[in-house]
Amino acid sequence: MKKITIAIDGPAASGKSTVAKEVAKALDYIYIDSGAMYRALTLKALRSNIDVNDEEALVQMTKDANIIIKNQKIYLDDEDVSEAIRGLSVTNNVSTVCSYQGVREEMVNLQKKYGSAEGIIMDGRDIGTTVFPNAELKIFQTASAEVRAKRRYDENIKKGIKCNLEVLTKEIELRDFKDSTREISPLRKADDAILLDTSNLTLEEVVNTIVEMAKKLEKEG
Ligand code: C5P
Repeated sequence: MKKITIAIDGPAASGKSTVAKEVAKALDYIYIDSGAMYRALTLKALRSNIDVNDEEALVQMTKDANIIIKNQKIYLDDEDVSEAIRGLSVTNNVSTVCSYQGVREEMVNLQKKYGSAEGIIMDGRDIGTTVFPNAELKIFQTASAEVRAKRRYDENIKKGIKCNLEVLTKEIELRDFKDSTREISPLRKADDAILLDTSNLTLEEVVNTIVEMAKKLEKEG
């Protein structure tokens, strides 16, 4: 049986990372969250007072940054920033930081390096189109903006983070707009990706669907 490469793309808060983690556990694969890399760069820019509109400075900063993903934790210049990258200022600036070609080139190279391992599942926006165009299994996971905002709202409330559903919906829609209209590697379903609308599916149903598809491909491998 051959371990495969699984690419999961989709809009913000569509539950990709929750699903990908569960699929990785079920198949004993390595899970890599590509969005966390762009978030770590955004955190670095904010901490260093680099203007997110200053492309040249950001590209240089990216070249100097040391980003490592290990055991589902992300390290920026040797510091575990797994929690810090989830803050609101990072979330609201990441779509600008990741829109520059020089920034994306560095990160895509890094993502490809992680992809050389056997049995990998990576989620993001351009994994099936740009990072792993030859992935054996490509999923485009989506849900309506209302469902995604409600899921994120429930998650925040559970964690004790105060938020407003209307504001969350607007933030998610704005991030989707920026991600899908940018010039370089926009959020787009790869032609050969399977569209999975999870609006009316449970987490378990989504995970089982992907695991079954992967197992079939492993056997065919
Ligand atoms: O997946 P997550 O929502 O954490 O990603 C944060 C942001 O990083 C996205 O809104 C998008 O702007 C960017 N991103 C990207 N390409 C990827 C993964 C994430 O542009 N492969």
